[in-house]
Amino acid sequence: ANAADPLLVLDNVSKSFKSPGGGLFHAVRSVSLTVHSGEIVALVGESGSGKSTLGRIALGLLQPDVGSVSFDHQRLTGMPPEVFRDVRTRMQPIFQDSTAALNPRKSVRELLMQALWKQPGEGEARCLRLLEDVGLRPASRFIDRYSHELSGGQRQRVSIARSLAMEPRLIIADEPLSGADVSIRGQVLNLMLDIQRSRQVAYLMITHDISIARAFADRVAVMMKGEIVEMGSAQEVLTNPQHAYTQRLVAAVP
Ligand code: ADP
Ligand code: MG
Repeated sequence: ANAADPLLVLDNVSKSFKSPGGGLFHAVRSVSLTVHSGEIVALVGESGSGKSTLGRIALGLLQPDVGSVSFDHQRLTGMPPEVFRDVRTRMQPIFQDSTAALNPRKSVRELLMQALWKQPGEGEARCLRLLEDVGLRPASRFIDRYSHELSGGQRQRVSIARSLAMEPRLIIADEPLSGADVSIRGQVLNLMLDIQRSRQVAYLMITHDISIARAFADRVAVMMKGEIVEMGSAQEVLTNPQHAYTQRLVAAVP
């Protein structure tokens, strides 16, 4: 893939919610953002600044009031459901509570088979390969387990494997580490980076944790009250003393 190839393009996207008082609350205001093939873009900003809303719009889980979402040169906004589904498999979410969403009645094998659209007996080798790819080795030791037989970190790896089964080109990760134990955060982050390198997967990494942006992002977009107020290389954005809001976020990191 060409590194300069725009993969996800959010063009002038806005979203309002009805506020309890009866007015409109502008959660996302005229946001334009591009993630290129293979690129890691961190979307940072304080709680309530509109990051998750923007992520949900990108995934098609929410409709923007204004503006459009395009993925791999196809306009998603307003497209027919079957085209949407097709495009959507190449854009996968990882949420903070992804692991909680793993069906406890299904074994790892069944969870992955479901993602691979395989019937029992098919695709065993792919399942094993996916488990190896996310660091669950030897895979044969994990494939028949249920989620309660896995540690938190192992469950996060299974949910990542399930996303990878779709062969995504973009992973939209919304606070993927917030639910994780401190001791496994580094491991999961490293796994996400390995995946980026070996599969050229692009990330939109939504996080309030600037240290993640600093360590891993090619570019950083800073959101404040629904708007992107700064965007650039991680170095430029995070060290710019001119921007008080960003510096406050930086200072909040221990
Ligand atoms: P962030 O992820 O940056 O913390 P969110 O995108 O979750 O921010 O939320 C931005 C704002 O929009 C918040 O004030 C939130 O309360 C509001 N909001 C988000 N989703 C909804 C919704 N479905 N209905 C009403 N308000 C919402
Ligand atoms: Mg959020």
